[in-house]
Amino acid sequence: MTTTTAPESQPFQAEVAELLNLMVHSVYSETDIFLRELISNASDACDKLRYEAISAPELIADGAPPKIWIAPNKKANTLSVVDSGIGMDRQELIDNLGTIARSGTKSFLSRLTEAKDGANLIGQFGVGFYAAFMVAERIVVTSRRAGSDQVFVWSASGGSGFEIAQASDEDAKRVTRGTEIVLHLKKDASKYLETYEIERIVRAWSDNIQFPIELVQEEG
Ligand code: ADP
Ligand code: MG
Repeated sequence: MTTTTAPESQPFQAEVAELLNLMVHSVYSETDIFLRELISNASDACDKLRYEAISAPELIADGAPPKIWIAPNKKANTLSVVDSGIGMDRQELIDNLGTIARSGTKSFLSRLTEAKDGANLIGQFGVGFYAAFMVAERIVVTSRRAGSDQVFVWSASGGSGFEIAQASDEDAKRVTRGTEIVLHLKKDASKYLETYEIERIVRAWSDNIQFPIELVQEEG
């Protein structure tokens, strides 16, 4: 039996809200790097699964090796980055996507207050997951930690907080292990739905990734 928890709104840590605000209103032109950041996170998650599976082989009992998918959907104006890595439970979603633990990001923010040209700093530092808010007006993260029977959904629209909820049965069925990140793209970011554009960015920035990356052609 699983217990159902009601959807909950939580505020971002002040630094995260600051960073998000910066991303949402970014004038930084190299927005391509968001995909590098998401693929890098997906790859880290695949690594973590491989590592944890050494002492807990049942985590990959399904035999499916960790993998990354990129799925554009023109009809829905969404770009999804999916991995079958370690995944996140409810608390990990809250902690990892709602607070800034990275020292790099903290020093980025302190540099930013001094800098006249904040935009250029984005490229120098690489701001991780939050970079996706340069191209997305809304992000929905659905995740199942490896071995868990629970799936949770984190969502945010770049404001001051995020929502966390239990996944619907349909969502839980789709996300069997790992994390699905759905970017609801800004109007001016629809170029990221083009296959050639995605391939170009992956080749330029994610050539060194050790896990298979599959570009999923949209149906219809
Ligand atoms: P960093 O990768 O440098 O830690 P990010 O902002 O890119 O910083 O990501 C923050 C954290 O969110 C990661 O450290 C990780 O714990 C978690 N995370 C992000 N994406 C994923 C993912 N696809 N699978 C599992 N955990 C993730
Ligand atoms: Mg990262």
